[in-house]
Amino acid sequence: MELDTITAISTPMGEGAIAIVRISGDEAITIADRIYKGKKPLKEVESHTINYGYIFDPETEKKIEEVMVSVLLAPRTFTRENMVEVNCHGGIVSVNRILQLILKQGARLAEPGEFTKRAFLNGRIDLSQAEAVMDLIKAKTDRAMNIAMSQVEGKLSKRIQRLRQALLETVAHVEVNIDYPEYDAEEMTLGILKEKATFVKNDIKKLLQTAQQGKILRDGLSTVIIGRPNVGKSSLLNNLVHDNKAIVTDIPGTTRDVIEEYVNVRGVPLRLLDTAGIRETEDIVEKIGVERSRKVVEEAELVLLVLNYNEELSNADEELFKISEGRDRIVIINKTDLPENIDMVKVKYLAGEDPIVTTSLLLDEGVNELEEAIKTLFFEGELEASDLTYVSNSRHIALLNQAYDSVSDALQAIEAGMPVDMVQIDITKTWEILGEVIGDSVHESLIDQLFSQFCLGK
Ligand code: GDP
Ligand code: ZN
Repeated sequence: MELDTITAISTPMGEGAIAIVRISGDEAITIADRIYKGKKPLKEVESHTINYGYIFDPETEKKIEEVMVSVLLAPRTFTRENMVEVNCHGGIVSVNRILQLILKQGARLAEPGEFTKRAFLNGRIDLSQAEAVMDLIKAKTDRAMNIAMSQVEGKLSKRIQRLRQALLETVAHVEVNIDYPEYDAEEMTLGILKEKATFVKNDIKKLLQTAQQGKILRDGLSTVIIGRPNVGKSSLLNNLVHDNKAIVTDIPGTTRDVIEEYVNVRGVPLRLLDTAGIRETEDIVEKIGVERSRKVVEEAELVLLVLNYNEELSNADEELFKISEGRDRIVIINKTDLPENIDMVKVKYLAGEDPIVTTSLLLDEGVNELEEAIKTLFFEGELEASDLTYVSNSRHIALLNQAYDSVSDALQAIEAGMPVDMVQIDITKTWEILGEVIGDSVHESLIDQLFSQFCLGK
């Protein structure tokens, strides 16, 4: 495949002490040598070494900056092409100047995600791994990072490949039976077909069972704090944000229509909705409190309903119970440092099965219990194992659902005693759908679209 040489700044703009400019392609080393001066030209150094030197402008011969340059020769590189990485510690201005010089020497500015796209096109990684690279960049918690990492390493790909292999074997077997009956190969009976299809169906189901958790770990559990004015919503928010500093990487080009904040509660990323509303002055909230709550509750996956221990339950409290009925909900009774005026029996009745936690946010009491309740509600134990393959990407989930339907069709055909070659149609379709997860049979337009969501320089 003939691909030109591309370059980009691959560290976040304006942040971090070190900036890296990456170059990838046949000409990477030649281009870098025209603007680099060190002990030896880069074309003479060994692959996978870091070399000290400086960058200069070949037109003026002026020294621009001291740098460390990594030389990585194909094929043992991320893109499987020759790569050069220029590490400089200067600010944005000098990084940009280095980039401009590289462009002048004949490299082209990379599109967002183009380095990863090359890794895919050059067969270094498959599509699900490429998508995982993107998730890795966006990961907000360690756990989300681990999922993405295991996917980059190809765990999901291997699982999918194993399923496809099983399907392919049955298809091949049937073909042999049909085309070469004289070979007298063991007849692919409906019995064997059923066994294989059942194995595939069950494994897809297992993968789909991780999807909800996987998606939440990736995108965050949308959470809303509701309660009457003065019960302690802002205090709770501040407490959560303070204790669980979120890892938030800003992704250029993403717009957020709701104001939200991320917190990481014991490995569960909460995406707190409408936090601006909570922080607004109380008189506004008082007027539109219940109405506004109704709206955000609709978007939320988890509702934290805060009540005041020191006051009697009001109609507004009961209204808030009503609008959040049926959601995953934790009832928080705050201000336990003050005398009890709330009717606990009634609270228990209204809360039903939902966990109730008592807190004094003023004294910082009960917050651990609340965090534990959030974790329990979310993980329910079994899926927490770190070696699990999670499916977290919506595209993968949609495809796995299709594959599940298609293999179910095959099984139904088997049950109905259809001829083997009819069943094979559904089996082949399942094989094709699974191929799309790892990018075996996807359209070029989809590939372009997927990679365009990346950040620049990745
Ligand atoms: P919001 O209107 O629901 O956001 O409530 P705030 O968090 O703004 O709290 C209202 C008032 O209650 C503030 O003066 C807080 O300091 C106070 N407050 C919050 N939590 C507690 C608590 O556990 N005990 C006591 N005594 N006061 C609290
Ligand atoms: Zn408030």
